[in-house]
Amino acid sequence: MKRTIFDGDHDLFRSSVRGFIEREIKPHHDHWVAERIVPREAWLKAGAQGLLCMSAPEEYGGAGVEDFRYPAILAEELQRANCTGPGFGIHSNIVAPYIIRYGTAEQKKRWVPGMISGDTILAIGMTEPDAGSDLGAIRTSAIEDGDNYVVNGAKAFVTNAVNADVIIVSCVTDPEKGQWGISLLAIERGTEGLQVGPPLAKVGWHAQDTAQVFLNDVVVPQGNVIGKPGQGTFLMGKELNQERLLIAVSALAASRAALDWTIAYCKERQAFGQPIGTFQNSRFLLAEMETEVTIGQTFLDRCVMEWNAGSLRADEVAMAKWWATDLQQRTIDRCVQLHGGYGYMAEYPIAQAWLDMRWTPIGGGTNEIMKEMIGRMMGF
Ligand SMILES: Cc1cc2nc3c(=O)[nH]c(=O)nc-3n(C[C@H](O)[C@H](O)[C@H](O)COP(=O)(O)OP(=O)(O)OC[C@H]3O[C@@H](n4cnc5c(N)ncnc54)[C@H](O)[C@@H]3O)c2cc1C
Repeated sequence: MKRTIFDGDHDLFRSSVRGFIEREIKPHHDHWVAERIVPREAWLKAGAQGLLCMSAPEEYGGAGVEDFRYPAILAEELQRANCTGPGFGIHSNIVAPYIIRYGTAEQKKRWVPGMISGDTILAIGMTEPDAGSDLGAIRTSAIEDGDNYVVNGAKAFVTNAVNADVIIVSCVTDPEKGQWGISLLAIERGTEGLQVGPPLAKVGWHAQDTAQVFLNDVVVPQGNVIGKPGQGTFLMGKELNQERLLIAVSALAASRAALDWTIAYCKERQAFGQPIGTFQNSRFLLAEMETEVTIGQTFLDRCVMEWNAGSLRADEVAMAKWWATDLQQRTIDRCVQLHGGYGYMAEYPIAQAWLDMRWTPIGGGTNEIMKEMIGRMMGF
């Protein structure tokens, strides 16, 4: 079914992104997987190509493009190439909006040009070793001291952390106010007391420099508060929606890519003198997956357009996130099965996709939390 949400400009953008990934990402990705990090040079190249923080305002050197179809195309093309390492989407569409939408003019002047060029890489630390789904239960504290805050605590599983130049951290600034006493502070690389661990040994997503962040008596100027003190929970509640939509878009694209590789494999691989795709079981599986991915894509495309129009509700984003990531799990798992033993070999893209996919029902708010949100909106 032909997708109808893109026009000629989007198609041109997609082909330039595809070329960029072929030239600058794909040839190096295996090496980055081994190194467990995407080097800064790749970020600078993405910046030079205009792929970072496209929504940044023109007065700070950005393109001012608010159309979510562009980041969606970048995410889709990275999945299509099976290049999951670059945390460009997390940087541009998950963390940058906190600075672009709620930052002061001074903060924007300081960070936005580098965010666009790739010189200033962003990360966000909300999750803690003892608090993930329950973001209001964090313990990292920021105590006022003159014009500064003194921050103590730890953050777990911070994507882009090793490369990060600015990490936005959620902290308790007013313990009396519970979840309304949480603030977001931007902490810069090199600040004394800020320590980033090595890239974590994850099950998959190996080229991504996810790490722990430790904060010991870190002195952060009050001028680094994002939004106002106490607004952290409110801002995260708003911005997590875009994160979830991006995860959903990526999950759908990963499913589409895996299915395409599998269709090709099922045509080529022979067993009992016939292509394996012609066995009734394979044909039914392929037909089911094609149907589900097509239906999913139609829904996701509608979500993207509603998001652009500002009319997509949080519970609808939650539906997209849980359903698309769930679809990704069952699609890619079935694709592995259709590859037989080769599906378990790391050199095959499908095996890599199988390892990389497992975090998506967990990250950005677990799928159980998504269903909680939907259930609550239904009045339960
Ligand atoms: C690869 C990766 C990258 C990540 N990147 C980042 C990042 O950049 N920044 C960041 O801040 N975080 C990041 N995270 C953390 C992620 O957002 C959390 O792991 C996630 O929110 C779940 O929190 P948790 O791990 O503490 O699990 P828990 O909250 O302990 O949940 C454990 C289980 O209990 C279930 N559960 C919890 N509460 C409920 C409930 N009320 N009802 C039903 N079930 C419930 C959960 O669904 C889950 O199945 C990342 C995680 C991964 C795996």
